[in-house]
Amino acid sequence: MSTIEVTDLSKSYGDVQALDDVSFTIPDGEFVVLLGQSGAGKSTLLRCLNGITRPTEGSISIDGAEVLGPRNDVAMIFQQHYILEQISAYSNALTGALGRTSFLRSLLGRYGDGDKREALRALDTVGLLDEANQRAGNMSGGQQQRVGIARALVQEPSLLLADEPVASLDPASAETVMRYIRDAAAERDLTTIASLHQVNIAREFGERFIGMKDGEIVFDGYREEFTVDV
Ligand code: ADP
Ligand code: ADP
Repeated sequence: MSTIEVTDLSKSYGDVQALDDVSFTIPDGEFVVLLGQSGAGKSTLLRCLNGITRPTEGSISIDGAEVLGPRNDVAMIFQQHYILEQISAYSNALTGALGRTSFLRSLLGRYGDGDKREALRALDTVGLLDEANQRAGNMSGGQQQRVGIARALVQEPSLLLADEPVASLDPASAETVMRYIRDAAAERDLTTIASLHQVNIAREFGERFIGMKDGEIVFDGYREEFTVDV
């Protein structure tokens, strides 16, 4: 669980104002859906939260500590899941422990017993325990995305970010994957921010909604107040 504080955050790329004076606070354990059309600034915001992109102005703090770069307690799930197709679901999940082990040890496959247990637990959370030894490349798109979720969980984050995690899936798989993300977050008390552009999926899974347009926040509210289509 993490409390997130974003204060007067701006990011420009040349003339493009990708984020324009964005501020919000997210209390511990909340499940936030970030909504907005393509180009609204969702990815830029998530990348700033993840410490991969430096804001032009403003600040982000997680549990009171300013984000100055990538942190091991923040995990990100991407639309493109970047899992390794040649290796098993289990081996992919294990790579989430990379931040806790040396690169050499990981090359030799010498993860700790705790990491191995976490990998199995994470695969169980996403309903893939029986498929642990399957080659990831042989799995469906939805299953591969669930492997990506497992890998993020093995990182043992306190903040889970998901950038359009279901954008490339068919509606049924999209719903399944969102359900696993929500249940994993609930089970592990993770503060979660997921960007989506499908309003119907957002409505089903969101607890709080932050709507963005042209780099600005145009809506911020809870389920019962969520009536606008952004
Ligand atoms: P979204 O995730 O909502 O689609 P993005 O954060 O990807 O929005 O993009 C917001 C705006 O910033 C867009 O106009 C996009 O083209 C621009 N942008 C994003 N990343 C870069 C970049 N690395 N270089 C230049 N412009 C960028
Ligand atoms: P999304 O809309 O899903 O966020 P984009 O297509 O906007 O994805 O961006 C994909 C990648 O391209 C990102 O890494 C982003 O930083 C980069 N990017 C986006 N817009 C621009 C741009 N105008 N110039 C350079 N890079 C960009």
